[in-house]
Amino acid sequence: MKIINLISDMQKESLAARLAKKTVGFVPTMGFLHEGHATLIEQARKENDIVVLSIFVNPLQFGQNEDFDAYPRDIARDEKIARELGVDYLFYPTIEEMYKEDRTTLITVEKRVDVLCGKKRPGHFDGVATVVMKLFQIVMPTQAYFGMKDAQQVAVIEGLISDYHLTVQLVRVNTIREEDGLAKSSRNVYLTPKEREEAPAIHQALQLGKSRLEQGASISETKEFVENYIKEHTASEIDYVEIYSYPNLKEVKEPRDGESLILAVAAKFSRARLIDNIVFSYTKGEN
Ligand code: AMP
Repeated sequence: MKIINLISDMQKESLAARLAKKTVGFVPTMGFLHEGHATLIEQARKENDIVVLSIFVNPLQFGQNEDFDAYPRDIARDEKIARELGVDYLFYPTIEEMYKEDRTTLITVEKRVDVLCGKKRPGHFDGVATVVMKLFQIVMPTQAYFGMKDAQQVAVIEGLISDYHLTVQLVRVNTIREEDGLAKSSRNVYLTPKEREEAPAIHQALQLGKSRLEQGASISETKEFVENYIKEHTASEIDYVEIYSYPNLKEVKEPRDGESLILAVAAKFSRARLIDNIVFSYTKGEN
C-alpha cells in the first residue's frame, strides 16, 4: 500500500491507472476506521482493479461548536487496517494541502439540505460537497462507495454527480450494525457504558416505526411513536425524528405503495450525537 500526502502525486497515480483502463474504486472517509468503513473497502476491493482510501477530517463540514478537534483520530491503526484490507493507495493529505489560502470557490448545496442534518448543521453539506468534488478530481474514481448510514450525504452527492455531469458511479452501501443493532460509527467511542447499552433503542425505534407506518399509522403518529420510544429507552436528547421521500427529501403527506421513504433520527448523548435511518420502499400492510 502506498501512502500519498500530495494531491499531485495522487493524481499521477490515478491518471496512470485510468489510462491503463483500470477501474478505480474510491472510499472517502474521515478515518478512525471501523467495520462500516471496512465493508465499503471490501466491496470496492471486490469490484475494482485499484482501491483508493482517503482519510481527511474535513474542517469545512464542521460547525463552530462541533467536534472537529475532538473527532477521534488514529492514523497508525487506520494504516494497518487499510493494509490488511488490501487498499492500494491511502490518500492522507493535510488541511493546508487540501485548502490553499487563495482558494476562490465553494460549492453550495441548494436542495435536499433544508431538512434532517442539513437543517441542524447549516453549511455542513456545502463542506461535504466541496471536499467530495475535490476528492473526485484528485482520485478520478470510476466508482465511489458511500454508506447509507449517512443517507442525506448520499442524496446530496447523487445530486452533485448529476448536476456536474460527473462520470463517477456512486455505490450505496447498507448500514453496518453492531450485533445489537447500533449503527457502527467512529463517534460510538464517546458513549458512556450506560449510553452504549441504551443506544440500540434507536434502531429498534426505527424498525418498529416502519412497521407501524406500513400497518396504517399516519406520518405524524409514526414520528411521535419513534420519538417516545427513544425517550423511554434512552437518556438522549432527540434532535429530530423525520420521514421524507428518498432521495429527494421532500415532505410526504400520505405514503404511496412502492414509494421510497427515509425514516431518520438524530439523538444527542452526553458526548456524541448519533444519527441513524432506514430507507425502504413503503409497502402498505407489510409486517
Ligand atoms: P466517515 O468516516 O464517518 O465520514 O464515513 C466514511 C464513509 O463510511 C461514509 O460513506 C459513511 O456513510 C460510511 N459509513 C460510516 N459508518 C457506516 C456504517 N455503520 N455502515 C456503512 N457505512 C458507514
